[in-house]
Amino acid sequence: MSKTIIVSNRLPVKISKTGDEYTSATSEGGLATGLGSIYKQGDNKWIGWPGLEITEEADQKTITKQLAELSLVPVFLDQEEINQYYEGFSNEILWPVFHYYTSTYAVYRQSNWEYYNAVNEKFRDAVLAIAEPGDIIWIHDYQLMLLPELVRKKMPEVSIGFFLHIPFPSHEMFRLIPWRKELLEGMLGADLIGFHTFDDVRHFLGAATRILPVSSSANVITCGDRSVVVESFPMGIDYNKYSSLPLEPEVKEQAAQIKDAFKDTKLILSIDRLDYSKGILQRLQAFEQLLQLHPEYCGKITLYMIVVPSRDTVPQYAHLRDEIDKRVGNINALYRNMEWAPIHYYYRSFPIETLSALYSSADVCLVTPMRDGMNLVSKEYAASRTGNDGVLILSEMAGASKELIESIIVNPNNTNEVCEAILKAIKMPAAEQKRRMQAMRQLISKFNISHWVKIFMDRLKEVKQMQRSMQTRHVSFGTEQSIVNRYNKTKKRIIFLDYDGTLVSFKSNINQAAPDKHLYAIIDKLTDDPANDVVLISGRKHENLNDWFSDKKIYLIAEHGAWFKQQNTSWHKISGLTDSWKNDIYPILETYVDRTPGSFIEEKTYSLVWHYRKADGGLGELRANELMNNLKYLASDKGLQLLPGDKVLEVKNMEINKGKAALMLVEKKDYDFIIALGDDYTDEDIFKALPDSAVTIKVGGNLSAAKFYLRNPLEVRKLLSSFVEEVPVQ
Ligand code: UDP
Repeated sequence: MSKTIIVSNRLPVKISKTGDEYTSATSEGGLATGLGSIYKQGDNKWIGWPGLEITEEADQKTITKQLAELSLVPVFLDQEEINQYYEGFSNEILWPVFHYYTSTYAVYRQSNWEYYNAVNEKFRDAVLAIAEPGDIIWIHDYQLMLLPELVRKKMPEVSIGFFLHIPFPSHEMFRLIPWRKELLEGMLGADLIGFHTFDDVRHFLGAATRILPVSSSANVITCGDRSVVVESFPMGIDYNKYSSLPLEPEVKEQAAQIKDAFKDTKLILSIDRLDYSKGILQRLQAFEQLLQLHPEYCGKITLYMIVVPSRDTVPQYAHLRDEIDKRVGNINALYRNMEWAPIHYYYRSFPIETLSALYSSADVCLVTPMRDGMNLVSKEYAASRTGNDGVLILSEMAGASKELIESIIVNPNNTNEVCEAILKAIKMPAAEQKRRMQAMRQLISKFNISHWVKIFMDRLKEVKQMQRSMQTRHVSFGTEQSIVNRYNKTKKRIIFLDYDGTLVSFKSNINQAAPDKHLYAIIDKLTDDPANDVVLISGRKHENLNDWFSDKKIYLIAEHGAWFKQQNTSWHKISGLTDSWKNDIYPILETYVDRTPGSFIEEKTYSLVWHYRKADGGLGELRANELMNNLKYLASDKGLQLLPGDKVLEVKNMEINKGKAALMLVEKKDYDFIIALGDDYTDEDIFKALPDSAVTIKVGGNLSAAKFYLRNPLEVRKLLSSFVEEVPVQ
């Protein structure tokens, strides 16, 4: 029976010490509740740091035993590890950069990085101690970005999911980190990488494809022969809990007290952890501006502001706290009167019942972070509004704003806009409040925390299945043997070989991809056998193939089928083709060459190719899409086909098709063994055209009509060598 292992920096547990005795109790944050449905079942486990330094071995043993009863597995960290891995690397490098606070807050210390590696390895060892093949491992958040790869190296087949709870920044921010490459490689050890929003997904795909030699197609990154799926899974809350709490007598009583205390004013609630990303000072500025510009609201509105203590031993946080104290003090001193103070400020945390009472009493909830992965407070407020009233003001920089589109959405940097939003909120008619609140509550109710857990886990299973089905198609040792057996038993064989990407790897300069001695040796061996017809079927120019292969006993097909040449004969081409269309298309391609440094045009007899391998990453793809759109109608008018390939876009006569060319040859003789190997779009025509009995092999891991796949030209050469006597690599 396989199990699921959750891994996060912190365990969902509170450990307290009275005298020499330790007691452990699970804490019920949103994530812990959601994941409770997993880790509390069967043999499943949650691995993490228990939240305090425990140095004595005997104490560690006692705690490990206590936690085992709660299905929790501790990773003990000493003070230096906490300082460097957690405070240093996670909170002083990753947190600020990922929240777009680089210049003022991030300090790149090498020793922090070393500890980050070492602690991630410590977590890896904890995982390996309990993980077995077939298990599912779900790793959480920015403290453990290296862990997926560390586990993958030791357990190549295991299912690994990774979820980042904070924003993933744009490539422009991310690239600043000295260890950007290692961090991305670490994450890509996972099979499924989840983020809160689609923007995070875009940013991650952008960073990964620019920084690492990997390619992406839609939301799938191919690294080596592994496909990693990247997707957004906006995290929800425990809706039932927040919508039922206001009905509890204790909460009702507290809510009644709050309402009574603020009966003459509109109550505006704000709840955040102490953090510069939460925009607390900017929010105070907007509130002050409102009082300044609209003195008529003095005495009529109150800001109830809770700031939950967090990281305040770090100087920047302590400084922020001082600033908030000062600003609140100033505003209150300037505007308060005997009966009313504009801001009720609390620097502490509250039990959930009090939070619920506040959520259900506040007329407005003001959530204006500068940057926030999701922001749960906004969702908790809406879930608590059982009467479908109240107004949510939400920063567009919070992940939640992508879902809660019925809130009043603001740019937290725009003080005027925030001010206006507060005015709009306190004046909003009941009917409009209801319409907006109902829609948001419906969404939060459906996309709750258990839904989030379920769709992530379901998707992870699907991804693994997809990878496995690819694997069954990979020409493994067994398949190779059966192909070789068939080869040996047959007498009339035809072997179709594509060139670039199949027999040789891509080079940034197309002329550098010339055949090497090893390749010639393989081709010689294959063609020495009179039972073999070897066909090189390529998109390259016929002159080019001629230079490389004219003295070989090989049938050459150039330009996707426009040109043919049997050994010892001259080239001939398909009749009836025209190239007059080039006069119209060439100038269009030229404009793209002018606008895209590094790109160029290759002219063949019946096709034009726009190459962008050397263009700036991303720009080439963008222009290629633009060019496709631009040429769409013109191409079909002129009987042309547009072929997007590996960093190329080719325009060619529709009549030319590798499939047709291959079929023509196949029909000439009664072949008893047909095999075709190719790597790109144009080779799909061959795979589709050949009879069912043919062995078709796609090179590279993308979807294909071929029956099998091989990873790269090296594997292709190995297979071809196994048909003949082993050809040593030189
Ligand atoms: N919260 C809490 N005690 C408090 C105030 C808030 O436990 O006194 C909770 C709040 O209910 C919410 C979480 O802290 O679930 C804050 O989550 P959010 O996503 O808004 O911000 P984060 O702190 O994760 O950046």
